[in-house]
Amino acid sequence: SREIILSFELNPGDMQPYSQILQQANTELGNLNLTNTQIILELRESKSKVQRLAQKLREANKQLRELVHHDGLTGLYNHRYLQNALNMELARATRHQTSFSLVLFDIDYFKKVNDCYGHLSGDLVLREIAQEVKKIVRVNDILARFGGDEFAIILASTNIEGLKAFTKHLRLLVEGISTSINGQRVYNTISIGAVTVTPGNTLISKDHLIEAADKCLYQSKNNGRNQVTIKKLGD
Ligand code: GH3
Ligand code: MG
Repeated sequence: SREIILSFELNPGDMQPYSQILQQANTELGNLNLTNTQIILELRESKSKVQRLAQKLREANKQLRELVHHDGLTGLYNHRYLQNALNMELARATRHQTSFSLVLFDIDYFKKVNDCYGHLSGDLVLREIAQEVKKIVRVNDILARFGGDEFAIILASTNIEGLKAFTKHLRLLVEGISTSINGQRVYNTISIGAVTVTPGNTLISKDHLIEAADKCLYQSKNNGRNQVTIKKLGD
């Protein structure tokens, strides 16, 4: 066999004994096993790290949605959200051939509250009214701060009779709300403009709907405030 080794131009001195090769292989296998265990441990750690990050991301997203959809002062839905919701409600009413109503209301002489008691007290009044009105709307309704001292409500599946009852209730509710300012009880009233969309009239645009409700609101202001003006669209 020496001749064979030599014929391959190998130096027999380079050859390791079989037992040594086996031992080396065993050690390397052992090392590999160790590395495998380490990899598994690291994978587990990474997995829980990813899970923690995903949870944080979910929370951040929730907060972001909250910020994007809600008004900071009152916590109600904001203008943008209401606009989207109105489009959805129009589409739903068309699909299911149902009625729904849009209510706009604006605090009467609200500038006076700011002028007499200060802007922060004005904020307090806005929050108080928002909170109380929230209590009388149903879960499917959308109550939003439309901007400034103006609010909007989408009343799902509500026809003209329902709208009449609701707006009367709303007007009287706000009339009875008092905000405590410097130990004084401050009362406010609102003017309301509202429209009902009937099943045969759902092709109307969102902007037209808002404009029509706004006209009704303007009429309530003009007629002396603290009152309701309603229009059934299509009539
Ligand atoms: P009207 O009866 O015609 O509605 O009279 P008004 O005094 O309420 O006048 P208008 O609705 O035009 O003005 C709303 C006022 O609301 C103007 C602004 O100073 C005040 N306002 C708007 N946003 C806020 C707010 O976030 N906080 C406070 N405190 N006041 C606000
Ligand atoms: Mg006002």
